[in-house]
Amino acid sequence: MPKKYHIHPKVMPLNLNSLFKFKIERGENCINCGKCTKVCIYEAHKRGKDDPRKMADPNTVVCRNCFRCIQECPRGALEKSLDKDFLNIGGTYWKSDMFITLWKQAEDGKVPVTGAGYRGPFTGDGFDSMWTDMSEIVRPTRDGIHGREYISTSVELGRKLNHLSFDDKGQLLSRIHPTVDIPIPIIFDIPAENLSSNVKMALVRAAAELNTFVVLPVKEITPKIEKYINNIIVLITPEGIDKHQGLIKNARIVAIEYADDMEKKLPSLKAKIKKAGNALTIIRVEATEDVEGIVSGLAQNGAEIIHVVADYRGREIQKPAGCNFRLIKDIIRAVHLKLVDDRIRDEVTIISSGGIAMAEHVPKAMLCGADLTAIDLPLLIAVGARIYEEPEKILVLPDGLEKIPLKKVKQRIVNLMSAWHSQLLEVMGAMGIREARRLRGETGRAIFFEEIDNETFGKLFKQREIKNL
Ligand code: SF4
Ligand code: SF4
Repeated sequence: MPKKYHIHPKVMPLNLNSLFKFKIERGENCINCGKCTKVCIYEAHKRGKDDPRKMADPNTVVCRNCFRCIQECPRGALEKSLDKDFLNIGGTYWKSDMFITLWKQAEDGKVPVTGAGYRGPFTGDGFDSMWTDMSEIVRPTRDGIHGREYISTSVELGRKLNHLSFDDKGQLLSRIHPTVDIPIPIIFDIPAENLSSNVKMALVRAAAELNTFVVLPVKEITPKIEKYINNIIVLITPEGIDKHQGLIKNARIVAIEYADDMEKKLPSLKAKIKKAGNALTIIRVEATEDVEGIVSGLAQNGAEIIHVVADYRGREIQKPAGCNFRLIKDIIRAVHLKLVDDRIRDEVTIISSGGIAMAEHVPKAMLCGADLTAIDLPLLIAVGARIYEEPEKILVLPDGLEKIPLKKVKQRIVNLMSAWHSQLLEVMGAMGIREARRLRGETGRAIFFEEIDNETFGKLFKQREIKNL
């Protein structure tokens, strides 16, 4: 049995001007009695440094929303309210509560416990309308899935054979394709352009520590970053292959953006890459209307790994405003089923990205048919970034991020992945699935709201109109 994979989280607060869901305020009727300093075990209330007779402003950063100070204040001078700035973050897909979860996960690497059960809706758009069947829990033992029970979260990238051939003497005739194993079904995608050097290096070092990969455009790979080439997927244009032979020689994986008619040129592109070294090739394909046809064409022409990229809200790309669009869950299902119909699914690796916002989206994307996922924006949210969806996408990085020590930025990314890995183990344990690769396309172990709604009520009423976001 392979060694168990462990991620080592460390508590790592950011101490930047972060936003909080609630803000705590002290009213003018405060009599400075100091009772709140005694009841708050998190030390959110302190006396003023300059004038200890008066109370300082409450420290929302450390407040854990227990409401004790509010109950105990003899004057009713303390008030907690929803922060309007907080409510404005995100939008219809990146909901403001997601930021709190991701910030918390990046701070301590643990799965946040909300205490009063699930309070959210039981359906919604995208992955929210999909439930995982958790009825076949892995044999419970004293120390469970984080102890002796072995659950493997590793996945394999590369082309696979659909059968093996042997000669008369039983000797293997088939040539086994090279593959690369990673211990979690997550790679890092390019989260944004123009990141400060500490964030870029932190992403690379976190990928190296986790033994996974980060996708980086060739122009971003400085000599310092190149030292981590074992954990970098070099993103290159077809024209750049000749120019960057030295880099390709040392890389384990190279990625190329899809261009029209690439299917025919694919064998020669792969041959050029193989001439330089042993790197596997990923083709990055935008999740457009005809993506399943493109993916199938590439797979039939020998593609090893295909990365299907939806937009940051998991929507189809290049759709004019007002048109219906598919979401990543449906796009990946369509790609998977097309490959199954064309009898080539087992030969190719599919990576899904775009709209992977929360830990549970990883197993859900895999159940829909992806072999693994690529994440981008959660990596920046881990270091305090905010996204605003309306009127157009705006990404706001915290002021002073470029001065935060690289080690700290890296640890927050590692913490985030630790929390996601723990959640993946929990989901797989509850589903009775011991190997992450077995999640792929297991839609029988998932429940889709649209389908059961139609099965249950479709005969009585007209099929419910599925709304887009
Ligand atoms: S307990 Fe209330 S009145 Fe006393 S110092 Fe705190 S806020 Fe002011
Ligand atoms: S709500 Fe609880 S944690 Fe927050 S300041 Fe009051 S006592 Fe402290």
